[in-house]
Amino acid sequence: MHEAGLAAALAEELLEIARREGGRILRFSVEIGALSGVDPEAFRLAYEALRETVEELRETEMQLVLVPGRFRCQRCGREFEGDYFAVCPGCGDPGKSVLSGEELLLREVELDV
Ligand SMILES: [Zn+2]
Repeated sequence: MHEAGLAAALAEELLEIARREGGRILRFSVEIGALSGVDPEAFRLAYEALRETVEELRETEMQLVLVPGRFRCQRCGREFEGDYFAVCPGCGDPGKSVLSGEELLLREVELDV
């Protein structure tokens, strides 16, 4: 399960922040892009299982923020939401660049210092 590896990487990052700031993590949010290939529910479960095994993270609260896939049409410049198979609703062109939705980002870490 690829979410387990991602949750482990997230836990590492949190512990690193806690060490650097000299506090305890209370809550944090993670942005998950619709195009990232990460299943938010699986990710939540993976993190919840993991934090039980890490003393410093046991009391943490994770908020997931889902970011939709957004594209800009390479032909007419229109911006739209969708997945990788979406075509431009304006001109029907499949050529597009990704604006957002591929991220898996740790945001807004709240510490008790
Ligand atoms: Zn277009």
